[in-house]
Amino acid sequence: MTGFSDRVERISISGIREVFEAASEDAINLGLGQPDFPTPEHAREAARTAIAAGEADAYTSNKGMRSLREAIADRYAADRGLQVDPEAIIATAGGSEALHLVMEAHVDPGQDVLVPDPGFVSYKELTKLAGGEPVPVGLRDDLTLAPSAVEEAITEDTAAFVVNSPANPTGAVQSEADMRAFARIADEHDVLCISDEVYESIVFTGEHHSPFAFADSDNVVLVSACSKTYSMTGWRLGWVIGARSRIDRMLRVHQYIQACATGASQHAAEAALSGPQTPVEEMVDAFEARRDVLLDGLEEMGLNTPTPDGAFYAMPSVPEGWVDAVIDRDVIVVPGEAFGAGGAGSARISYATGIEDLKEAIERMREATRACRSNASR
Ligand code: PLP
Repeated sequence: MTGFSDRVERISISGIREVFEAASEDAINLGLGQPDFPTPEHAREAARTAIAAGEADAYTSNKGMRSLREAIADRYAADRGLQVDPEAIIATAGGSEALHLVMEAHVDPGQDVLVPDPGFVSYKELTKLAGGEPVPVGLRDDLTLAPSAVEEAITEDTAAFVVNSPANPTGAVQSEADMRAFARIADEHDVLCISDEVYESIVFTGEHHSPFAFADSDNVVLVSACSKTYSMTGWRLGWVIGARSRIDRMLRVHQYIQACATGASQHAAEAALSGPQTPVEEMVDAFEARRDVLLDGLEEMGLNTPTPDGAFYAMPSVPEGWVDAVIDRDVIVVPGEAFGAGGAGSARISYATGIEDLKEAIERMREATRACRSNASR
């Protein structure tokens, strides 16, 4: 019988799914990695119009429609003063495909990719799929990634390091100084920095910064998507931005595994990016209010939680048995270990859920915390 490739045997289904399966149907779900807001109406309308006019039926250019890539470039210019050449962008099937392209185009078998630990689950598995070795790099106490830790972990086998800000699963936001340092490391060590910025628009305090803006070399690639910013996870529309030589290589992979991003989604994304940004502002305000409610609750429970300045996750340190005790009370949270060994002793709580459910979930977490403490003192 035809066996399975070594590459696929090295990867596994995300541990997050197991948590979902363990919970009852009407549990309050604080395990979600997607905003609970609708896609902006003008984005949906643009897709409907394109479909009705027959403009979404055919392949687009492999890189994606020029008008979409211009809309992406214009957004970076307007929001961050960043000049991006539309020819240096590939529209992808979500940030996920963008990360896959980066890994396939840059990582050779046996090479290392430094990944934040705890960190988003795909970095490790996509590295392995490309034949590489993920090397976990632990976080600071405030759950940010220290440039010094990355620099110390670089060896001659290092192909790339991943920076993710705002971060999943921590909600941590890297400072401008850190981002400048990551850019310097990419320049000086001649190593690729993969900057995953899918949560770039969801920042509560300070500003989002990208190492892409600070590098002197071509050694930073930027991955982002409409998924979180515009609550468009189901539309599967992301992008990767990089130097032309890197884009050329990634396009080879994209051409054969995807051909082009879905036509209707490209139209929706273009409208989301170029239309009014008020839905994004409203969503970010709602997330901030919920974050504050959650942080107050966790503090009252005595759970130490570094303040998440972005995304929609918090990652408290929790006592032994806490995740199970919370899930037993019909609230889904994800154990920190699902994001790497560095996540042990913590849990990821997503607040992409309505405020009333969140308040109810906090009450149940309070009970679970009490139960864990009284068990521990017996
Ligand atoms: N990067 C991070 C940090 C994420 O959390 C996610 C999704 O949860 C992705 C990338 C993938 O996003 P997309 O849905 O656009 O593929």
